Amino acid sequence: MCGIVGYTGPKEAYPVIIKGLKRLEYRGYDSAGIALLDGSLKVYKKKGRVSDLEDEVVGKDLHGHTGIGHTRWATHGEPSDANAHPHRSSTGKLAMIHNGIIENYAQLKKDLINKGYQFKSDTDTEVLLNFIEEIKENNHCGLEEAVRVALKRVTGAYVILLIDAEEPDTIIAARKGSPLVIGIGKGEHFLGSDASPMLEYTKEVVYVNDYELAIVRPDELILKNLGNEKITPYVQKLDIELAAIEKSGYDHFMLKEIFEQPQTIFDCLRGRLDTLGGTITMSGIQQYADQIMKANRIVMIACGTSWHAGLVAEYIFEELCRINVEVEYASEFRYRNPVIQPGDVIIAISQSGETADTLVAIENAKAKGAIILGVVNVVGSSIARASHGGAYTHAGPEIGVASTKAFTAQLAVLTMIALKIAHDKGTIDQDRYMRLLAELAEVPSKVEKVLKTKDKIRDLAEKYKDARDFLYLGRGFNFPVALEGALKLKEISYIHAEGYPAAEMKHGPIALVDENLPVVVVATKDTYHHKVVSNIQEIKARKGKVIALITEGDTATAALCDDVIIVPEADEILAPMISVVPLQLLAYYTGVAKGYDVDKPRNLAKSVTVE
Ligand code: GLU
Repeated sequence: MCGIVGYTGPKEAYPVIIKGLKRLEYRGYDSAGIALLDGSLKVYKKKGRVSDLEDEVVGKDLHGHTGIGHTRWATHGEPSDANAHPHRSSTGKLAMIHNGIIENYAQLKKDLINKGYQFKSDTDTEVLLNFIEEIKENNHCGLEEAVRVALKRVTGAYVILLIDAEEPDTIIAARKGSPLVIGIGKGEHFLGSDASPMLEYTKEVVYVNDYELAIVRPDELILKNLGNEKITPYVQKLDIELAAIEKSGYDHFMLKEIFEQPQTIFDCLRGRLDTLGGTITMSGIQQYADQIMKANRIVMIACGTSWHAGLVAEYIFEELCRINVEVEYASEFRYRNPVIQPGDVIIAISQSGETADTLVAIENAKAKGAIILGVVNVVGSSIARASHGGAYTHAGPEIGVASTKAFTAQLAVLTMIALKIAHDKGTIDQDRYMRLLAELAEVPSKVEKVLKTKDKIRDLAEKYKDARDFLYLGRGFNFPVALEGALKLKEISYIHAEGYPAAEMKHGPIALVDENLPVVVVATKDTYHHKVVSNIQEIKARKGKVIALITEGDTATAALCDDVIIVPEADEILAPMISVVPLQLLAYYTGVAKGYDVDKPRNLAKSVTVE
């Protein structure tokens, strides 16, 4: 959450930063602001989108070769002009932007108020900034030293970028718990929450680690730890192209990303799945294959959509590998003193690789001796680096706030891990193994087929868009798909939706069923199909409206339902990757039909880097 951008070099900083902020808007859109250094320090900020900031600065002095910019997802203080970043210190000499939460801000604020400081905003950020300034003034030191001293007394999470009217061309940056990438250009440097603001300028980047501080000037990048010792920056090559972060003709990133899925699933399987030789090659898993095979249990740790991927994986691992699996919300797991035993394997699932709760949860588990495997999309991200091994999902940048292609890629990776372990462990017979490998390779073309039903799904969205509530039901491997379908609808259309195991409906939610309630039932052909058909009958008996996902050719089930969406036949282990796609489209078209900005849903932001 919160996007940060910085630039120092020969270019005008304003256009570089504004373009960067637009790319990072998926991280927050409560307000936007920019500070420019040009002899003097200029700060412009505005509640709302980056475009509102652009309107605000028309005709203003935007000159400067060093600058920082921010797009906010509010944690402390409502979205407003005053709470927008950058904040200015009380002397007006420093400007700072921040992503994260300063947990001990209240005490620091009290101390500063006692010393005569006044605050213009309700943010924790302004407190840290004035705390830094107080140290700078009292110790008669430079900004770098003041930041170092202050950060030793701060608890919480942050990336901060600061500029000082008295230190031209210099940006001081530091991180703990939130992401920071520095791009190295020729005589210039770029800073960002991710690499998207710098893609057209450089492919050489440094991912800054926790408790590191960077002094960034046009010709110089100095990295230090908080003990003031220099660290050699580890420069990596970016392999993302600009086209990957553009809408390429689609109305929204969400739609583009839904339609990318045949390709992203294919990319995820490519080079790993050999259907003829019967092998799955995943080097980051291979190293730990023995430990996984012997694991007492596997714990999947994740949040949101990734947690649903973990639930599907629970069914798959238990079925194929005969290993006990638990699926945990990272935010609960990290705080409840969980029992971790030698031989436990943790699989952390995260699109961004920066999810704050997941990151801390795996650090805790690692300290207790668990083996950590990351299933992560963003290469070089914090969770990827904190894990012992794992596998990237290779879905490319996901910009739509509601996760879609990351989910199916996570399922593809988790399925491959399960198949590999089951094969090595001997818990799957060779015929089934070979058949599943072959069918896995066909998933991209089956998803392609589902995408062809988009017009039908758009009509359904139009038909049901005014419903107040939705119920989503599924069983077995498709139960988490029902959860994911409901989550997508909530996120994008703001319609209340609940996902439930189909049979569990009788223990409560059936009370909601009447002629106004649309019930989306995942009723594809699998082991539980006839049970799900009974659940459809139960809903119809109470006049509920049934929209069912059915397997092609299943005319008997179709006859029972108000509306159907047809999906190709698939083994039940692989079915979730296919059946989730129409539910993504249903949520998308419902949000569009209701007139909402589906790429920037209310109150949400991507990459949850605060607790
Ligand atoms: N805590 C800061 C604020 O509320 C930054 C929030 C964030 O990183 O999302 O302004």
